[in-house]
Amino acid sequence: MPYPRLPLTRLFFPLTLFLATMAQPASAQTNDPALTHARKLLKSTPLIDGHNDLPWEIRESKTAPRDVAAYDLRGRSPKHTDLRRLQQGQVAAQFWSIYIPGEIKDSGYARVQLEQFDIARRMIAGYPDRLAPALTADDIEQSFKRGRIASLLGMEGGHAIENSLGALRAYYDLGARYLTLTHNVTLDWADAALDSARHGGLTEFGREVVREMNRLGMLVDLSHVSPGTMSDVLDVAEAPVIFSHSSARALTDHPRNVPDSILARLPKNGGVVMVTFVPAFVSSDVAAWEARVREQVEGVKASVTDTAEQRRLVDEWKSTHPAPQATLKQVADHIDHVRKVAGVDHVGMGSDFDGIDSTPEGLEDVSRFPYLFAELIRRGWTDADLKKLAGQNLLRVFHAAEGRAARLQKERQPSTQTIEELDGPKTVSGKEKA
Ligand SMILES: [Zn+2]
Repeated sequence: MPYPRLPLTRLFFPLTLFLATMAQPASAQTNDPALTHARKLLKSTPLIDGHNDLPWEIRESKTAPRDVAAYDLRGRSPKHTDLRRLQQGQVAAQFWSIYIPGEIKDSGYARVQLEQFDIARRMIAGYPDRLAPALTADDIEQSFKRGRIASLLGMEGGHAIENSLGALRAYYDLGARYLTLTHNVTLDWADAALDSARHGGLTEFGREVVREMNRLGMLVDLSHVSPGTMSDVLDVAEAPVIFSHSSARALTDHPRNVPDSILARLPKNGGVVMVTFVPAFVSSDVAAWEARVREQVEGVKASVTDTAEQRRLVDEWKSTHPAPQATLKQVADHIDHVRKVAGVDHVGMGSDFDGIDSTPEGLEDVSRFPYLFAELIRRGWTDADLKKLAGQNLLRVFHAAEGRAARLQKERQPSTQTIEELDGPKTVSGKEKA
């Protein structure tokens, strides 16, 4: 991030040198010309990451759960993200995920969702010299010029709206600028990638959710949804979509990744796939290993009822079958693949840092983004294309969604449709209505 230049430094050379050393972390000093090139490029164009789970990490902190002040981002944080490493990584804008689990069974989703808004908003407000709340594409560009990290909120999981378009609008007003339509649980109105396909994609109410998001200017995020849902959304969408953290299924056959048939439809829609760093989504070896772990867990559960013994047996299996390591080069392969099939105007990055327990070798935390750019420079990417990948594609999508929303708001009022009206009473929660 460029800092405001002090005129004094021009007068006093040793001070200039001293400040230059302070501004350049040791890891930035390099003899790698591709890395030097990448760092220079990222000073001139904003790097926008689509997905970081820090707000949930703060909630679940082992030492001080939910305590935003105690999770000090000025120091070294326990996981992947803190201010110093964001600076080293030259991150200009971050969509902070305000994920909530789809499996909550107690008081409904609103309580936890609102608590995550509160945690994320207090986290951003706690560092006004470094983080700037952002609600629009223009905000991202302004923050970049001022040397602050534009901080946006993305909701992860349409279960949070509890089948209510009014709740959707209220969450938009609280600052949510994307909604991942599902997390891992299939909803009453949309199928998830990792759950059963109950609707073959979207129901009619699901289509109305997409239309209302387009009217609001909230980005429709297709990470976590089934290919059927992706396809239905592309049929109905009136604005470009995003995938905030997904990679290419042709390279790693994981249900969370995007099939080529969907990638091929992105030029017409105008959207962007923000390639994720999740090891099991970028490495087929890691995906296969995780599938074997799941088999072990199921096998153990079928034969042993003591849960401590179950864990011990699975850990024992893991100790003799260590996990393979995903790599930075594999992430670059996924970026190259999305570029090849969807085009260079439709690729971005959505790391999922703080949402993953292991990371690819070379992409260990938020400080490492420039190394990924260096790899792509070595593969022949031009500066113009790297700028699109870094953030210009996402900015284009965001501006387009905003412009479309402004027009749609002139054409139609907020939707008052209910799921019962559109899908019938029987489909709610998959049960007969009492
Ligand atoms: Zn996710």
